[in-house]
Amino acid sequence: MTSIYHSTRSTDVTCGAKQAVLEGLAPDGGLFVTDALGATQIDLQRVCNQSFQDNSAYILSVLLDDYTPEEIAQCVHAAYDSTFSSPQVTPVVQPGPDSDYILELYHGPTSAFKDVALQMLPQLMSKSAASCDKRIMILAATSGDTGKAALAGFADTPNLAITVFYPYRGTSEVQRLQMVTQQGDNVAVCAIRGNFDDTQSAVKRIFSDQELQSRLAERGVVLSSANSINVGRLAPQVVYYFDAYSQLVRQGRIQLGDPVEFCVPTGNFGDVLAGYFAKRMGLPVARLIVASNANNVLTDFLTTGTYDRNRPFHKTTSPSMDILISSNLERLLYYVSGADTDYVKSLMTQLSQTGSYTVSPQMLQAIQDTFGCGWATDAQARAAIGEVYAQTGYVMDPHTAVAWHVSASVPKTPGATRVVLSTASPYKFCGEVCAAVGLDVSGDEFDCMARLEQAWNVAAPQALSSLKDAPVRFTDVHDACDMPAYVEAKCGELL
Ligand SMILES: *Cc1c(COP(=O)(O)O)cnc(C)c1O
Repeated sequence: MTSIYHSTRSTDVTCGAKQAVLEGLAPDGGLFVTDALGATQIDLQRVCNQSFQDNSAYILSVLLDDYTPEEIAQCVHAAYDSTFSSPQVTPVVQPGPDSDYILELYHGPTSAFKDVALQMLPQLMSKSAASCDKRIMILAATSGDTGKAALAGFADTPNLAITVFYPYRGTSEVQRLQMVTQQGDNVAVCAIRGNFDDTQSAVKRIFSDQELQSRLAERGVVLSSANSINVGRLAPQVVYYFDAYSQLVRQGRIQLGDPVEFCVPTGNFGDVLAGYFAKRMGLPVARLIVASNANNVLTDFLTTGTYDRNRPFHKTTSPSMDILISSNLERLLYYVSGADTDYVKSLMTQLSQTGSYTVSPQMLQAIQDTFGCGWATDAQARAAIGEVYAQTGYVMDPHTAVAWHVSASVPKTPGATRVVLSTASPYKFCGEVCAAVGLDVSGDEFDCMARLEQAWNVAAPQALSSLKDAPVRFTDVHDACDMPAYVEAKCGELL
């Protein structure tokens, strides 16, 4: 018997994992979930004796259990064997002798943690598509890193094209250049006047536009999502929580069975939700700490039980976390409410109609039992980068710095080892990082990149330094209301 997936908002329509990966979002606008989460507990002893690749195959075969073992093995090799610059794929390091540990997730082709999932998702999707003879247009809204990681993962995949929308002037310069210089015959990139939430909401509306989808279906084209609402993105992220534990055991830092906790820089709640999945599947996680920037809607929710997106949107130095609608929180609400689809549906209706909802005191208590929280201003994140560099010589990016600051402010569970997730290379945010470590910031991002290389003595990834001379291929700027027509046109051109 394989796991059954259905929407967070109803159980009317069910499917297997392969189909859920292909569709991305459930037909009623909810997110795919399975009630089998945690039914199979992961064997920690086995995890601690295996490579990242073997752990990936093991955990994916539990979460996405209608793929055959051969299919999973092929996906794992294609996704991870030669694409990451670190032999451990996601290495755990310790900047100072007694400091928190850091799980470096950014050694993939686009230098952000999104690569871990987006090197895998296209592989999973190709296997799903092969069984149904369809051509697929992938849509992605990005706050900066998803776009490039998705482009890199999906470029030149047969029978598949990808369109990425990013907020105009809402990303770092390096992030923008990474996207608009993307190579490949099946890719489109477009800037949208508005912020990430406007862009993501418009993509979600396209998925519920039945008329558009039936016009596309007549041409054999289906739409799918590369955002972290796709279970095919969530599942690969569960792996590194287990693998980090395995590294700590093998390095002799902890004993098998000891508790750990993770502090996670959070935007759409995908990364930290994967940590919750790991806990449900048997990883000894004491608590998960949700770290936000000035867009601290999650800090308020986890403190008061009221989620309220009616607040000013802040552009910060950690742009990939500039998000006020954390989509994956919906999955947590589903699981913590005891699989109550009607309850989740009513909260999501309130959110779309009024911009806010409040959970019951029991729900809030259950969530707080597992989740801690905190937030950092840009100045606090900058100070964290400067302090860690001055004390240890280690350089972290602004997103990681938000989590580092928050980790220091949230007391540890007694006996638990704290791991901070590092989600991007500092070289994606050279100007800000140079300022934080006290280097000259004159000139452009590439001048800063060169200075940072010299100070840190770690080479910038070639894929980033070569952006300086890469030709720009995409210059489109549109309003969010133009997005459906844009997608339909690109389906014609690219598929
Ligand atoms: C996407 C992103 C985040 C936030 O991750 P979520 O899964 O959306 O919570 C944090 N840091 C960086 C660098 C990112 O790209």
